[in-house]
Amino acid sequence: QEEHQKHAYQSDVARLRKIVINSLYSHRDVFLREIISNANDALEKLRLSSLTEPDVLTGAEQMNITIKAVKDGESAGRLIITDTGIGMTPEELKNNLGTLAKSGTSEFLSRAESDDSSGNGNLIGAFGLGFYSRHVSFLCNIFLVADRVEVASLAARTSKNPAPAQYVFSSGADENSFDIYVDPRGNTLGRGTEITLFLKGDAVNYLNEQTITDLVNKHSSFSTTFPIYLASKRTEFVLDEEANEEPAHEEKKSQVEETPKADVDEDEAVIEDVIEKEEKVKKSPKTKQIQVDEWLRLNSQTPIWMRDPKTVSDEEYETFYQATFKDYEKPRAWTHFQGDSGSGVSFRAIIFVPSRLDDDYWQNPLQSVTKDIRLMVKRVFITSDLGEDALPKWANWVKVVVDAEDLPLNVSRETLQNNAFLKQLRGIILRRLLQLLARLQEEDAEKWAHIEETFGNVFKLGAVEDRKNRDKLVNLVRFATNQRNSTSLDQYLENKKQGQDKIFYLADMGKSAHELAGSVFIEKLHARGYEVLLLSDPLDEVFITNVRRWKTIGFQDVAKTGLKFGDEVWLSNLMLYAETDPEEEKAERATLTEKFEPLIDWLRKEVREKGAARDVIISNRLVISSCAIVADESGYTANLEKLISSSHA
Ligand code: ADP
Ligand code: MG
Repeated sequence: QEEHQKHAYQSDVARLRKIVINSLYSHRDVFLREIISNANDALEKLRLSSLTEPDVLTGAEQMNITIKAVKDGESAGRLIITDTGIGMTPEELKNNLGTLAKSGTSEFLSRAESDDSSGNGNLIGAFGLGFYSRHVSFLCNIFLVADRVEVASLAARTSKNPAPAQYVFSSGADENSFDIYVDPRGNTLGRGTEITLFLKGDAVNYLNEQTITDLVNKHSSFSTTFPIYLASKRTEFVLDEEANEEPAHEEKKSQVEETPKADVDEDEAVIEDVIEKEEKVKKSPKTKQIQVDEWLRLNSQTPIWMRDPKTVSDEEYETFYQATFKDYEKPRAWTHFQGDSGSGVSFRAIIFVPSRLDDDYWQNPLQSVTKDIRLMVKRVFITSDLGEDALPKWANWVKVVVDAEDLPLNVSRETLQNNAFLKQLRGIILRRLLQLLARLQEEDAEKWAHIEETFGNVFKLGAVEDRKNRDKLVNLVRFATNQRNSTSLDQYLENKKQGQDKIFYLADMGKSAHELAGSVFIEKLHARGYEVLLLSDPLDEVFITNVRRWKTIGFQDVAKTGLKFGDEVWLSNLMLYAETDPEEEKAERATLTEKFEPLIDWLRKEVREKGAARDVIISNRLVISSCAIVADESGYTANLEKLISSSHA
């Protein structure tokens, strides 16, 4: 292993930094949350690998995160965050930290920059904060508050790597390269990672203990199950002779850990005794004040999902969600419940609906992988990867924490896949999610409007994909019509005219509902008071073709021949707004057909020669327009044809 290596960052660093600085500056607080979240991940990885390889635990007994602000002395201005997690080898330091942009980011940034309407590189408005955590490394955040960062790391001991050495990754905020070298201090860490931030002049407020405590409380305290300690100074009064003794920092730390303050169960008399002695010492002329390091535990002991939902505030749910799922945006809705699976496993869970879909959700419409079902057993994180079939595609954006009481702790991936509880979990999550959505649709118009905007198409996809839940999903789908902005199919049926035995729709992707409302195909129906669904999204037609009927009533494309009004097939007439009876219309059609026969014959010949249409007929379907091209009843509509040819392209 070379002692000292210099490497260039892999991505377009300058460009990325510019975007991050422009967009993220006012949110730079999140650097601490990102560091703690990585530390938590590293501790989770350690715990998981210790199940199969107990050796990884050697070097450091505790699994925790510590934060230390250095305010004076030579190293003043540094903030040091340390974890005793899995650590990184020098190769991992290079590969994990040397890539400021994650895979796929380059293309995303180009797209984002070209879509950026503000033109100033502030992409938060356009894409939401969420895209940063998916595309930008935590180091980019760090460089908003620090001129320089040093990451010292000592990988956990494994059979493959039995004698790891501590290495340092070091880089300045404006540099295009980074250094990796053996830590000159030796293996000081025991195990894990120590991140030292050399804070910028305008970021020294992050040394303030109260600021740190507030940030951790807000962003990390509920989501991090490992203890987080903050080094703080406590003033002690000691007699002068003793004052020369150096406080033993490291020892003090583990002492406090073993006997956290809250648990010290002292008798009141004993406490009074101690106070009395302290007072004596304070008054003595020989007394001197010294500062002693103390480790304060910052995060609450009871994770949020274990608490009674009535005692958890909205803000607590929101910050928990943001920290746990690395979303900069708040969740749109959530449901928190406990239950018993059919197989006798009791569990608690929170299901969150995010406020947006991933940018690439629609790029792989049928791929179904979710990494956001965090399964825990008795508070211990087990996995967030429940395999390919964890949830159907339509629901794979849902974010879940679930904590089961009686699963074996050392369940491996393979056994997980066959576990009865996990097989039921999918159904439980979907049922609760659909209940939550149905309730919001009923009770909260404003929230529902947002959900519909984000997930409207997802529900259509679901109705096509998820037969088991089809009816519930169809109930969530809404369409614009010629009569109103939004209707469910149930509402449509309530509003149908007597004798109407079809759900009418007109589909043309790319056209707005407003444009469709003015279409020639709607004129007659509209004039007669029929409601027509206006479908402007490609998925609408896929939805209708797959769902086929709702409450036994089929769909009728009004742009196809054979359109029926009520029970009869109404034949042709060219009269405006005519409400004539069918017999009269039939007769009239005969007259008109005869009268226009030469024209029809000529048109027929023309269009057939050019292959433009199959037939030309006189029709009663138009009210104002003089002609329309319609699809054959059995054929694809122009819209579906467009969709099919684009998906084959
Ligand atoms: P993400 O957490 O989404 O993977 P980050 O940019 O936050 O991305 O971190 C990049 C990678 O650096 C992590 O995936 C992890 O491999 C590594 N890493 C960061 N911090 C630590 C740490 N404290 N201990 C071990 N590995 C870490
Ligand atoms: Mg991270």
